Amino acid sequence: MSEFPQDSILSVLTADSEGQLEKPAAELIGGAGEIGTPVALVLAPAGRGEAAAQQAASFGAVQVLIAEVPETDSALGTFAVDALSAASDLTAPDAILIPHSIDGRDIAGRFAVRSGSAVSVDALGVERDSEGIVAHHSVYGGGYTASSAPTFGAPVVTVRQGSIETRGQAQSVNSQVLEVADSGKRSAQVESFEAVVETSSRPELRGASKVVSGGRGVGSEESFELVGEFADVLGAALGASRAAVDAGYIAQSHQVGQTGVSVSPQLYVALGISGAIQHKAGMQTSKTIVAVNKDGEAPIFDIADYGVVGDLFKIVPQSIETLKENKS
Ligand code: FAD
Repeated sequence: MSEFPQDSILSVLTADSEGQLEKPAAELIGGAGEIGTPVALVLAPAGRGEAAAQQAASFGAVQVLIAEVPETDSALGTFAVDALSAASDLTAPDAILIPHSIDGRDIAGRFAVRSGSAVSVDALGVERDSEGIVAHHSVYGGGYTASSAPTFGAPVVTVRQGSIETRGQAQSVNSQVLEVADSGKRSAQVESFEAVVETSSRPELRGASKVVSGGRGVGSEESFELVGEFADVLGAALGASRAAVDAGYIAQSHQVGQTGVSVSPQLYVALGISGAIQHKAGMQTSKTIVAVNKDGEAPIFDIADYGVVGDLFKIVPQSIETLKENKS
């Protein structure tokens, strides 16, 4: 069994049925490389571990631990927590980075409880200073940045997708299969479970590089198709404010904000969204924000890089037309 570097940073990554790692893999490993030596734990379906390990190495993981998920595993991440416990014992990492996804949060919380570790959620970045590992968070609707550093042990940090830009250098594959003992810890069991897969040709909202969102100002479910059309011309994911969701214009899975999805895309376009603090909380870290609102005093303009004061039903069709012309 190989030795692990003393400054190992363990990234926990899940692979799909093809052995493809989840979207934030490259940024997690890149971020790990900024504060230590990136080591990856890949959770992969049987027979897909090597493919996932190769991908992790191509993103910069210096060593990769492969944990093949048994087909009998429930959806509650019990195996993942057992695997992470084994990987943590083996590598004694300085920090553990996990995507801030639904599954990632589940794994982080369970592992932190089991191991007595400190957990920092929804970090926008990680750093190493003289005291140890520090995680940075956006708080109070993005108005402030808070930093957290545990005073004991290796922190478990969930990282918001799209927030780390650093990418690691490809490494040659150095992988080993992890032996995972069944802890027998079953705090919750799934008796019946149905995965509902929403199929869409659009990019997934979480982790998207471009997002076009519509708010109450869009006015109806039918009119929301215009927002979708704009998103499609830009190749963007489709988002919404809670008011738009509550009004039934679009499904809740598209909600951006404090009680929805947090996004950090390169481009965020807000159409008919006032910019309430709870909405800003989920999109304020976007690199470039464009807002269209007929009210020049709308708070969304306080954080917009580009603002258009006007009727979205005039501006959006013109923008779609221009983008289409420029494409052809
Ligand atoms: P409004 O505030 O009604 O704004 C609509 C905007 O559209 C206005 O600024 C108006 O000028 C503009 N407009 C109207 N017609 C046009 C037109 N033709 N062209 C251009 N502009 C037009 N909200 C979220 O979004 N996400 C959350 O996760 C979230 N979580 C919450 C959690 C809690 C605990 C609470 C209390 C609230 C939460 N909210 C959340 C709700 C939030 O406070 C706001 O109510 C909501 O964001 C408002 O949505 P909106 O901007 O679409 O609607």
